[in-house]
Amino acid sequence: MNIRHHVGDDTLMAYVNGTLPEALSVVVATHLAICPDCRRSVAMMEDMAGLLLMESEPAELLAAEKSLAEIFEGGEEQAPASDDKAVSADRYHTGVPRPLADRMPTSLDNIPWRSLLPGISHYPLARGSAGKGKGTLRLLKIAPGKTIPVHSHTGQELTLILRGSYIDDLGRFQEGDIADLDSDIQHQPVADTAADCICLIATDAPLKFSGFFSRLLQPVFGI
Ligand SMILES: [Zn+2]
Repeated sequence: MNIRHHVGDDTLMAYVNGTLPEALSVVVATHLAICPDCRRSVAMMEDMAGLLLMESEPAELLAAEKSLAEIFEGGEEQAPASDDKAVSADRYHTGVPRPLADRMPTSLDNIPWRSLLPGISHYPLARGSAGKGKGTLRLLKIAPGKTIPVHSHTGQELTLILRGSYIDDLGRFQEGDIADLDSDIQHQPVADTAADCICLIATDAPLKFSGFFSRLLQPVFGI
C-alpha cells in the first residue's frame, strides 16, 4: 500500500494526549494500523511525553503516568477474553483493520447501506460506550464518478479511504490515505471512475453544505 496522505501532527498529538474526540480517534487508530510512517511519529511523540514525565515532580508523575497508561490502553487492542475469541476472530474478517473491525456490524461487503442521493449511500457506526467527546463516525460509499456536494466544516473532519479512490482540490486519495481537514477547507470529492469509493469519515461537529443538496444532506450529516 502506497500511502501519500497522512494524519496531521496536531491531530496525532491530540490522539497521543487522549484529547481527540472518540470518533476521530477511531479513524486515526485505523490509519495507524496500516501506516508505519504515522506509527513512527506516534512513537516519537510518546518518547517526548516520557521525557517530559521524567522532568515532572513525583506527585505529578504518578498522575501523569496513570493518565498516559489509560491513553495507551485505549489505543492498543485489548486481548480478548478466552470465551470471546470466536467473536473477535469473526470481527477480524470484516475486511478492514482491527480498530475499525471492532465497530463493524458485518463485513464491508455486507454493509446494509442507506441511500442518501443517487450513487451516494452511508452507514452510521455506533460509537463506543465511553462516549468521550462529541462527533459522528460513519461509512460512506460513493459510486464511480459521483460527486459529494461541496461542503466546509465547522470542526475537524477525518476521512480514511478503505476502498477505491477520490479526487478533490487537495489531490487524489487512495486506499489507506487519510484526509485531515479543519474548518478552513472547503472541498468537493469526486469518486474515481474505476470502482465504488468507500470511506470512513469522522467529524467532531456538523458539516456545512453550501450547495443545492444542502437541504437533503444537512439533517443526515448534521446529527
Ligand atoms: Zn500515515
